[in-house]
Parts: sequence; structure tokens; C-alpha cells
Amino acid sequence: MCGIVGYIGEKEALPILINGLKALEYRGYDSAGVAVFSKNGIREKKTVGQVEVLEKAVGDDVDFKGNLGIAHTRWATHGAPSEANAHPHSDCSRRVFLVHNGIIENYKELKNYLSERGHIFKSETDTESVAHLIEDFLEEGKDFKTALIDTLKMIRGAYALAIADAKNPEILYAAKLSSPLVIGVGKDENFLASDPSAVIGNTRDFIYLKDGELAEITRDKINISNLEKQPTPIEIVRLEWNLEQAQKGDFPHFMLKEIFEGPEIVRFAFRGRIISKENRVMLGGLEQVSDKIKKIKRLIILACGTSYYAGLVGEYLFEEIAKLPTEVHFASEFRYREEPFDEGTAVLAISQSGETADTLAALRKAKEKGLLTLGIVNTVGSTIARETNAGVYNHAGPEIGVASTKAFLSQITILVLMAIYLSKSNDKDSLTESLLKELEKIPEKIEKILLQAPAIEKLALKYKDCGNFLFIGRRYNYPTALEGALKLKEVSYIHAEGYGAGEMKHGPLAMISPDFPTMAIVPQNGVSEKIYSNLEEIKARKGPILAIATEGDKKISSLANDVIYIPKTIEPLEPLLTVVPLQLFAYYAGVNRGFNVDKPRNLAKSVTVE
Ligand code: GLU
Repeated sequence: MCGIVGYIGEKEALPILINGLKALEYRGYDSAGVAVFSKNGIREKKTVGQVEVLEKAVGDDVDFKGNLGIAHTRWATHGAPSEANAHPHSDCSRRVFLVHNGIIENYKELKNYLSERGHIFKSETDTESVAHLIEDFLEEGKDFKTALIDTLKMIRGAYALAIADAKNPEILYAAKLSSPLVIGVGKDENFLASDPSAVIGNTRDFIYLKDGELAEITRDKINISNLEKQPTPIEIVRLEWNLEQAQKGDFPHFMLKEIFEGPEIVRFAFRGRIISKENRVMLGGLEQVSDKIKKIKRLIILACGTSYYAGLVGEYLFEEIAKLPTEVHFASEFRYREEPFDEGTAVLAISQSGETADTLAALRKAKEKGLLTLGIVNTVGSTIARETNAGVYNHAGPEIGVASTKAFLSQITILVLMAIYLSKSNDKDSLTESLLKELEKIPEKIEKILLQAPAIEKLALKYKDCGNFLFIGRRYNYPTALEGALKLKEVSYIHAEGYGAGEMKHGPLAMISPDFPTMAIVPQNGVSEKIYSNLEEIKARKGPILAIATEGDKKISSLANDVIYIPKTIEPLEPLLTVVPLQLFAYYAGVNRGFNVDKPRNLAKSVTVE
């Protein structure tokens, strides 16, 4: 998500910054900006679109000289992609300049507070409030470092920040909480970057900044302290990576990297949206249509592929939590369907890219019929985001692996929040309370599942040469079964089918034989006994069974050949856990069958054709 580059040293900063941004392009972005500082002043440029556009825009400017600079590729979360919203952002006096990756959750409160104190804002971003807050502390007479620390103590959310003081272009500041930031250590020069790939051509020595640390970087010195101004230990790591390895970090593929981002992605989706004290959800993107939302009587979810399966989970969520009749349609079918709509029907389009051609066409059809249109979209400013009446962003960062993994987790998290937001039920309090409390525990539970990756790889090796696979689940895990089968098809090319477990007797059981395995999703809940019976039937026909079950389930080992245990959670949130081993299983099956899992044959990431 977004890229940060910083430089301080003897060389001209600009080319190093631009090359760094280019190396970070793989992370995805919508606009870019750079600021260079020298004793003669500040040069700054921001452009929408590719880094190349920025490069051209500064190309002829001979004055763009200086040995300190910060640069950024923005992946918009607050405010559309535009020059005004691109980073760096600065304060009123143009002394504080900064680039930011992440989300400032309490930016609205800060913005109101600072506006009352006379600060004039130039952008719609959450980021700009940080620059003004530093300025506000400077105005109280504090030195720059103290003003910065006081600011960091006041902001909530996630950030990687590179900050420059235009009055003192001899020092570069960096701070981090939950978003990545590394310091590249050179000789008479130092670098800052979101990941080592940005500057690996200049140095191989890196310091991984930790959460809660603040770095003061000059051309020949690096001081790192905590927010109490106490020095913290510095560890320099030497990396012998090439560029591509540097982009993937410790992961051999983007798909695996993105599966491992799961816990963070779920946090990003609910961050700033849960008001625990009041036991409610705040979805700013829906506020403008809150009156219309109260009148929704029927919801139609429109999506394709993995988003469609997330939509199917949404169907259960909206019906159980919001008591709202909901149906899910393939966007490609809906666009050619003639069905009557009553007043009070709304549609919800789900699309990672926000450009999916079928979803867009279905959405436009719904608009023509005068329906309220909502969206869950990952890419800010995309066509679907712009064309819906209101919506919620995923904040999941760009997904590079063609087979969607982290976006699915993010979409379901938002569907849970939306269902609570739309809830009119009387028992809202107890159900909402347990959902919100448990949702906050989900990231840790996903982390526990990810620790089992080596064991899941062994299972993938055991089953990888089966020509066919069946995935079964019930209720909330029926869509998960469909998604598990889709993932396996996409990256390992093994034929797989997802079924509601109750459907076995109505056909699929005929396929079961000793070389036709079944992946059973059977966490302990109200329907697990039913699935045990379905598994008995499969076992009786000598079909191998691989089960995803809840820790402590004693019965499952007598039914299944292999079991992956997951932590317990409440049923509406189960897909957030059960899908993770399925993603890992598909990944390892694909890799061990020798395929390029990041770019499966015949598939494209953003499906912009019908
Ligand atoms: N939240 C910030 C913005 O929308 C930073 C986004 C990013 O990480 O690029 O400008």
C-alpha cells in the first residue's frame, strides 16, 4: 500500500527519490509527489497517475536541487486521487512537510480542533492533520522533535511517516506504527523507504524501524528513540536480495505475502469503524444516505468471482443480523435479467478493483431502474466507487496476486460491519456486542492459523496429484467451500467443486471413490452434527476426507483422514478463519505442481471486459 522514499546525503536527492518510487510501483498507487529541500528553499511537485508523469513534470526544472528529499506514491484512502490530495502535505507556514502511509483514525476530531485554532486545510486527506498538529505544537514554542513526539502521541491509527523540517534541511525524521518503514544505511548518505526494494541499488544495509520508534536521520548519523525520548537498540541487517525478492520481502510469491497480510487487512477494514463504547458501527461512506438505508426492504448483492462468494456470506449476515431479505446475483447474469423491483430495493456492488466490467454494467442497470446503489470497493476513486450512491472502502491495499485472497477477508469484515449498521433488530445489543468484540479478536486467530502453514503444505503435497477435489460446508461455510474450490482451480488447475454439504446425497456422492478427496469445512457450530453425518456417508464410500475443524473437536479425527484445527469463533465470523487454510492449501498445491500462482494461466487481475 503506497510507497515512501526519503533521502539525505551528498548526492542530488531527486533522481534517487524518483528511482525509488519506480521500484515501489508494484505496491499500487494512484498519484505521486516529491519535495526536495535545500538552503535555497523547497521544490515540490505532485501529479495524478504514473510516476513517469511526475518524472516528466520535474524533468525540466533545473532548480529541483537539494540533498534532502521525501517522495510518495499515494494509494488513496481519504479523498479522491488528485494533485491536492497527493503527498507531501504541509502545514500553513510550509515548514512541516510529510509523506504518510496508513490511516489516521481520529483525523476528523483533529481537523475540527485544528480548524478552530485557525489552521486552513488544503486537502481532503487524513494525513494533512498531522502536519498541522506538528505546527500547532511548534507554535507553542516546542522544538521540532518534541512537537513531533507530542503529535505522534495524539494520533490514532496506522502510520509510516517521513517528515522534513524546511527550516533545517540537515535532518530527516521517520516514525512508524503498524505500517512498514525501513532505513537504508549508506556511507555519508541514508535512505528511507517502505521496503528495501526502493533503494536496494544504493545500499544493502537496512534497519527495520519498529512500532513506536522515532528516527532522526542525518547524512552520517542515525538516532532511534521511543516516544519517551529514550534511545532504542539499532540492528542493521545485510540483505543479499535482488529487486524482485526485495519487493516480496521474505515471501516467495505475492499470493503468500497477501495471505499473510490477512490479520492486518481485517484490522484495516474495521479500524476506526467500531465504536466499542456505544456498541455500534460507524461507516462514514454511508452516512449521506442513512435515511434511505433505513428504508431498504430488499438487498441485491452484485459481484463476480471471489467477491460473489463474499457476497454469499453477506447474504447470511444481512439476513441474520439485519433481518434484511437479501439475494446475491452474478453481475453477468443480473445485467441480462428482467425482474421486477419494489420500492425499497437497493443493490450492493462488491468489486476489488472497482472496474469489473460486468459488475459495472449490472450497477448501471440498477441505477437506470432508480434503485439505491451501494458499493464495497478496494480501489479509491475507481469507476464503481464513483458511480454508486454511497459505499465503503476496503483499505486493503493493492492485491497483486491474480487469485484474490486478502480482499475476500476484507470484504467479509465490511459485510459484517454493514450488516450491523443496517440492523433494525431488537436484540441488536447483545448480538452486536458479541460480533464486535469477537471481530476484534479475529486478526490474532488468523495469525494462529498462519503458524500452521508448514503443516498445511505437507497436506497439499499429499493431495496435490488428485485430479479432483470436493469442498463442502453448510450455512456460512457453504460460500467458503465455493471459494476454497475456486482458489484450488485458479492456482493449481485441479478440478474442484464446492457444494452445500446437505446436497451430497442429491448427486455429488456418486463421484466419491478412494481417489476423490473431500475438503470438509466443519467448525463446531449448530450444523456440525449434520456435517458429521454427511462425512459418515463419504467415509462409507472410502472417500478420503480432509477436515477444517475447531480446536478441541474430539469427534472429527475418527471421521477424517487429516484435520486442520482452527480457533473457535462465533458462526457469522467463521468464514474469516476457515478460508485461510483453504487459501494456503491452494497456494501450496499450485506451487508444488510447478505453476506460477501469482499469474495463473488465462486469468487477469482486473476483469474489464464482459
Ligand atoms: N490515508 C492517506 C491518504 O489517503 C495515505 C494513503 C496511503 O497510504 O497512500 O492520503
